[in-house]
Amino acid sequence: MKKKMVSLICCVLCLLFSGCGPSGYERYRGEFFGTFDTVVSLVGYVHREKDFDRYLGYAQERFQYFHQLFDRYELYEDVVNIKTVNDNAGIAPVKVSEDLFAFLEYCMQWCEKSGGQVNIALGPVLEIWHDYRERYENTAEGMLPAAEQLQAANRLTDPKKVQLDAENRTVFLMEKGMSLDVGALAKGYATEKVGNELYEMGLTSFSISAGGNVRAFSPPAGGERSKWSISIRNPNTEEQPDAEPVDFLYLNELSVVTSGDYQRYYRVNGEKIHHIIDPFSLYPANYYKSVTVIVEDSAKADLLSTWLYILPLDKAKKTAKEMGAEALWVLPDDSIDYTDGYLVYSKNYGGAAAD
Ligand code: ADP
Ligand code: MG
Repeated sequence: MKKKMVSLICCVLCLLFSGCGPSGYERYRGEFFGTFDTVVSLVGYVHREKDFDRYLGYAQERFQYFHQLFDRYELYEDVVNIKTVNDNAGIAPVKVSEDLFAFLEYCMQWCEKSGGQVNIALGPVLEIWHDYRERYENTAEGMLPAAEQLQAANRLTDPKKVQLDAENRTVFLMEKGMSLDVGALAKGYATEKVGNELYEMGLTSFSISAGGNVRAFSPPAGGERSKWSISIRNPNTEEQPDAEPVDFLYLNELSVVTSGDYQRYYRVNGEKIHHIIDPFSLYPANYYKSVTVIVEDSAKADLLSTWLYILPLDKAKKTAKEMGAEALWVLPDDSIDYTDGYLVYSKNYGGAAAD
């Protein structure tokens, strides 16, 4: 009897402190840096640490692979990547791997669907903003690029001049000076691919986050709760370090991706000049501080977070609905708005619980 009691106590202690459930699953967490300019973290429930380490190592390798493939600044040995394509603009079609071709086809489909709002051929314009950000991000006062400079660059951003030849698997930017920037989709696309690969390998109860681009798979297997919990960062955290998260979401088998004005920016007259550019005005879109998208596929969530950021609220809500996504917007005055279906996942506004 005494023995039974001791083992019962041990079991309770084990549940309390190590996160291991009666199922024998334990929660592990690991992270790595060096890809997509951000930290990638993996939380998963498995039986043995050794298995988790294997999955984490695999994820790192695959993120590295996609990082190199989608890089527009660096070339790598034996890799034909976005930079190779850009360097050959106006010169010659570039033969690319199946993976890069499939990704670019995906990007071009969404460029068309979004009516050019998310345009990966916007490179020449984004490049100017990138340079200004680099120059001014650590200074108190920055400058804006001249409208004429942006307009001149915009002459080289026509997505119709991105030629994808499926038969020869080549990509050709038809004019010299054109360039691709896949920053709006790359991280989400990689997260979705790597997440699904891990799932196929046998890791099923996990969540992977690439710099806040979160993809949750099957429910936490530990037994203590039945949903993944994801917090939405307060866009004012830099100015108010104690600011509470905007909300907490409880969900499984979905992605949560946020685009915000706090991710990359510099200041002009105290105003944040950030990195999401309205391709029609050629200036940063200023309808919101942040947009959070909930939808299954992480690549879709990533591109939607950029797209819905650029649209005014009525159009953004309509687009979210058409795309089968739920979303939350933080407006410049810190008020919030959301799609009806968002509430199902929301703790603060819909009363959802972790279970
Ligand atoms: P982050 O990747 O920082 O989380 P986003 O997913 O919103 O943020 O993507 C922003 C990135 O997308 C920018 O850094 C830039 O490379 C690119 N970008 C910005 N505006 C556009 C646009 N209108 N169309 C396509 N790409 C864009
Ligand atoms: Mg995005």
